[in-house]
Amino acid sequence: MNAPLVVCLDLEGVLVPEVWIAVAEKTGIPALRRTTRDEPDYDKLMRGRLEILAHHGLKLADIQEVIGTLSPLEGAFEFLEKLRSHTQVIILSDTFYQFAQPLMRHLAWPTLFCHELEVAADGAVTGYRLRIKDGKKKAVASLKHLGFRVHASGDSYNDTSMLCEADRGVLFCCPQNVADEFPQFARTESYEELFSLLMEGC
Ligand SMILES: [Mg+2]
Repeated sequence: MNAPLVVCLDLEGVLVPEVWIAVAEKTGIPALRRTTRDEPDYDKLMRGRLEILAHHGLKLADIQEVIGTLSPLEGAFEFLEKLRSHTQVIILSDTFYQFAQPLMRHLAWPTLFCHELEVAADGAVTGYRLRIKDGKKKAVASLKHLGFRVHASGDSYNDTSMLCEADRGVLFCCPQNVADEFPQFARTESYEELFSLLMEGC
């Protein structure tokens, strides 16, 4: 008998839009458009973002206001509901709990493992705290250690170690550079096919 399955999904780019791209568009600051799709070094990416926020005087509430206007990607809610009716699902994200809450409401509150922002009394974002380094990969490894089979899907560089660790990894709507560097993973652009790839043989 197969071990029970857990599916781990990335959040931004798989179920919801990229938060920082939305913030870049709303604030008119193009430098904020850089994401994990462009920059493999997450710490460098985040330090750059925090410098830009400080430079423009943007606070947590300004970013939360933008996030409040975002909806899941078309078909994401239905995909997630269907998946959750077949197996356990955990969202593994490099976003922050302070950002994710309105998006989780749209997705009917799935389980989310992510990080925390450090916020000053005046609402300025002063830093961020990774719950654990390489958290996506370690979550998958820990679930396997607990006796689960793990299938995972993501769209960016920060997902590839999670996809490598999983029993099956699938790239979803990823940019060409990520697909070229990681040809070992199945790749799809449709939720229907993603569901089939994640549930294949189950
Ligand atoms: Mg992503």
